[in-house]
Amino acid sequence: MEKKELIKRLRELLKTSSIVEDADMSGYTSFRAGGKAMALVEVENKEQLKAALQFADEENIPHILLGNGSNTLFADSGYNGLVIKLGRGFANMAFDLGERATVGCGASMLLSKAAALMSDQGIAGFEFASGIPGSIGGAVFMNAGAYGGEMKDIVASVHAVSPDGKEEKDFAGEEMNFGYRRSILQDNGWIATDVTFNLTSGNVEEISAKMKDLNARRNAKQPVNYPSAGSTFKRPEGYFAGKLIEDAGLKGLTVGGAQVSTLHSGFIINKGGATATDILQLIALVQNTVYDKFGVMLEPEVRIIG
Ligand SMILES: Cc1cc2nc3c(=O)[nH]c(=O)nc-3n(C[C@H](O)[C@H](O)[C@H](O)COP(=O)(O)OP(=O)(O)OC[C@H]3O[C@@H](n4cnc5c(N)ncnc54)[C@H](O)[C@@H]3O)c2cc1C
Repeated sequence: MEKKELIKRLRELLKTSSIVEDADMSGYTSFRAGGKAMALVEVENKEQLKAALQFADEENIPHILLGNGSNTLFADSGYNGLVIKLGRGFANMAFDLGERATVGCGASMLLSKAAALMSDQGIAGFEFASGIPGSIGGAVFMNAGAYGGEMKDIVASVHAVSPDGKEEKDFAGEEMNFGYRRSILQDNGWIATDVTFNLTSGNVEEISAKMKDLNARRNAKQPVNYPSAGSTFKRPEGYFAGKLIEDAGLKGLTVGGAQVSTLHSGFIINKGGATATDILQLIALVQNTVYDKFGVMLEPEVRIIG
């Protein structure tokens, strides 16, 4: 089927105008680089999500779910498929406060927003995530973590939709197979729509002070003023990626508009006008140099599409 016809049918099926044709993915990802996707659709409820997935499945259209795009890089050659984003209809939050606090959170809500709402309610345990610029869904997919905490510690269950859009089910925290920057969603392609967290009740001032402190530490140590996807590489066992890169003499190394940050060597940043190709070439250069010097192969943490 022709692209125009596919998009027309999808519009009719979902009864939505929220479909961007030839979507420039640099506008949807924190690296601010990369090519175009065939189309980007924002869905507002589970029925629309399932219908979009079923349509893509039946028409054999490649598709990917995008959260806040803070760990994703699309190649300059683009993506000949459908990018699905969960809209505001997936940004709800519900509390059950007692001795323990149970919080239900829609997958499109940003971690920063969730953290602020929890802080206002005196809910402790989510502070570590407040400065991570992702969505709840992306954080669960990645088992995002910082400052000694990770999603694994607080996720009670995840409600998800199957990749073909035909089934829904709950995964208990133990079933999520969380590991370092890993979860079962990376293997089975299910899409998280709602996440339930097990937290504790705490003191509003203490929670807020802890978040402020963690964010100040983050702002001092990370190049937060430049577009990036955070740590470019996973932490290799027994090493720190940033230290290996710095020890290999690669701090400040530049390819086109992409640079190994001079503030934190674990970050590749977009200094201005970087293409995805610049970033990918720099990633490869860093990997090869570190491997030649130390025999350690760095694995990208950023998800590369296309
Ligand atoms: C400045 C900066 C600092 C960062 N600091 C940290 C940090 O301290 N710790 C850390 O762990 N990460 C950090 N990151 C990386 C990033 O923020 C996290 O990986 C975050 O969890 C990604 O969430 P996202 O919604 O942006 O995901 P996206 O980039 O949109 O997607 C990442 C992956 O998750 C999948 N996905 C997204 N939503 C869903 C869903 N609902 N269901 C199923 N799959 C889904 C996507 O398909 C994709 O494969 C940082 C990034 C930046 C730019």
